[in-house]
Amino acid sequence: MKTSTVAELLSQETTHIDVEVKGWVRTFRANRFIALNDGSTINNIQCVVDFENTDEALLKRISTGAAVHIKGQLEESQGKGQSVEVQVKSIEILGEVDPEEVSKTIMQPKRHTLDKLRAQAHLRTRTNTFSAVMRLRSSLSFAIHDYFNKNGFYYMHTPIITGSDAEGAGEMFRVTTLDPKNPPLTEEGEVDYSQDFFGKETNLTVSGQLEAETYAMSLGKVYTFGPTFRAENSNTSRHLSEFWMIEPEVAFMDLDGNMDLAEDFMKYVLSHVLKHNKEDLTFLEQRLIQEDKSKPQAERNEMTLTEKLHFVIDNNFKRVSYTEAIDILRNSKPNKKKKFKYLINEWGADLQSEHERFLVEKHFKCPVILFDYPANIKAFYMRLNEDEKTVRAMDILFPGIGEIVGGSQREERLDVLKEKMAALGIPEEELWWYLDLRKYGTATHSGFGLGFERLVMFVTGMGNIRDVIPYPRTPQNAEF
Ligand code: ATP
Ligand code: MN
Repeated sequence: MKTSTVAELLSQETTHIDVEVKGWVRTFRANRFIALNDGSTINNIQCVVDFENTDEALLKRISTGAAVHIKGQLEESQGKGQSVEVQVKSIEILGEVDPEEVSKTIMQPKRHTLDKLRAQAHLRTRTNTFSAVMRLRSSLSFAIHDYFNKNGFYYMHTPIITGSDAEGAGEMFRVTTLDPKNPPLTEEGEVDYSQDFFGKETNLTVSGQLEAETYAMSLGKVYTFGPTFRAENSNTSRHLSEFWMIEPEVAFMDLDGNMDLAEDFMKYVLSHVLKHNKEDLTFLEQRLIQEDKSKPQAERNEMTLTEKLHFVIDNNFKRVSYTEAIDILRNSKPNKKKKFKYLINEWGADLQSEHERFLVEKHFKCPVILFDYPANIKAFYMRLNEDEKTVRAMDILFPGIGEIVGGSQREERLDVLKEKMAALGIPEEELWWYLDLRKYGTATHSGFGLGFERLVMFVTGMGNIRDVIPYPRTPQNAEF
C-alpha cells in the first residue's frame, strides 16, 4: 500500500479505507491519541491507538518527537477539531526518542521564546510557527518564479564569486585560499593577490545586478534569484549577512515602467499566498493576535496579517518624490517634537527606517514608492536627472518593514557614467565590461532588488529576519 501524507489523509472524502502514514509524534495523550505531523500541512492527523490491545512496552516508546509508521483505517472522527482520524492497527517506531532528552528541546509542546528556537534551528521546523513560515517561504519563491515565467522573463544565474569590488551595494566578504598566517607579499608589502586562487582579489557578491544588466541587454527581460552577501556589521532585525535577492532587469524600460513592474509583481506574489497558503496564514495571524495581547495598546498591530496583505493588494502604491517626502518629514510631528532619533533638517539627508515607516504607517497609510533621490546617497549606476542633483532611483516602503525594494533606471550614457565613476574613484579597468554595454547599442534599462527575507517577514508577520531563513548568518553567528 502507498503511504499517504497527512495533508492527503485530511482531505480524503472516503472513509473506512486502509491507510498508511509516516510522521513525527507531536503529542501522545491519554495513552491513546497521537497527534501526528509530517510537514505536509500545519494540521496534525489524530491517530487513535487501541491501548488495551497494544503492548505496554510499545506504548512507552510512542513519545513526542518519535518518527513512526502507522497502518490503520481512516474513519470519521468522533472528536472535535478534525473530520477524520486513523484507527491504528499497527504502529512501528522508526526513530525513537528519550523523553528525558526531548523535554530539553523546543519539541517539548509548550511556548518557547524565539531566541530559544533560534538556538535549536535544526529542530525549530518541528514547531507550528516555523513549519508555517518555511512552507510560506517555499510558496513565495515558487510564486516569484511563476510571475516572471508568465511574463516572459528569463531566469539567469549570476556568479556568487565576483571579481569586482565595486558593485556599490555594501561591504564584501573576501574569497581567498591564501595562507592567512603567511600570505605572499608584493614589493610594497601588500598582500599579493596575483598569487591567489583566481589571480586577483575576489569577493562574495553583494548583488547580481551588474551582470544581470549585461543579460538584459541581449535577452530583454531577465531576473536573478540567488544568495547575496553583505559584511555590514549592522545587527538589526532586518539585516542578514547572507540573504536572498530577486533582481529583475529589463531593457527599454524606464523608471515608471520599473515602478509598475514592482507593484504588479508584489501584488501577484501576495495574492498567490493568500490563495494557496490559507491554513499557514491563519495560524500565523492567530499567533500575532496572541502576541499582541501581551503588548501595550499603542504597540499592537492595527491590521491582522491577512488584512495587511489585502491592503497591499487592493491599494495603489503612493508614488512620492524624495523632495516631497523630505518636506513632509521636516514638518511632521515627530520631527518637530524631536521624537525621531535622526532629525530631518535638510534636503539630502538619507532616510532611516523610522522615517520610512512614518511615511507608510502614519502619513500615507499605504505602500509608498519614493523616487528621484539625491545622487550622492545612491549608487553610481543610477541615471542622473536633468537637475543634475537627483537620480532615477526608487525605494518601495512597506508597513512594519520600511524599505523592501530598491531599484533604479540605470545610467545608459557612457560619458555620464564615466564621469560618475571618476568622481567616486571607481577605476574603469574594474568595470570595463560594464562600460562596454554603453558602447555597443546602449539603451534605457531599469531593474530593482527585492530582499526575499524582507518579503517573507511581511507575509508571515515575523518581527526578526533571523526567523524567516532556515539558518541565519549574522555578525558573530554562523552556527549550523
Ligand atoms: P537597507 O537600507 O535596508 O540596508 P539597502 O539600501 O542596503 O537596504 P539595496 O542595496 O537596495 O538595500 O538592496 C536591495 C534590497 O535588498 C533591499 O531593498 C532590501 O529588501 C534587501 N536587503 C538589503 N540589505 C539586506 C540585508 N543585509 N539583509 C536582508 N535584506 C537586505
Ligand atoms: Mn544596506
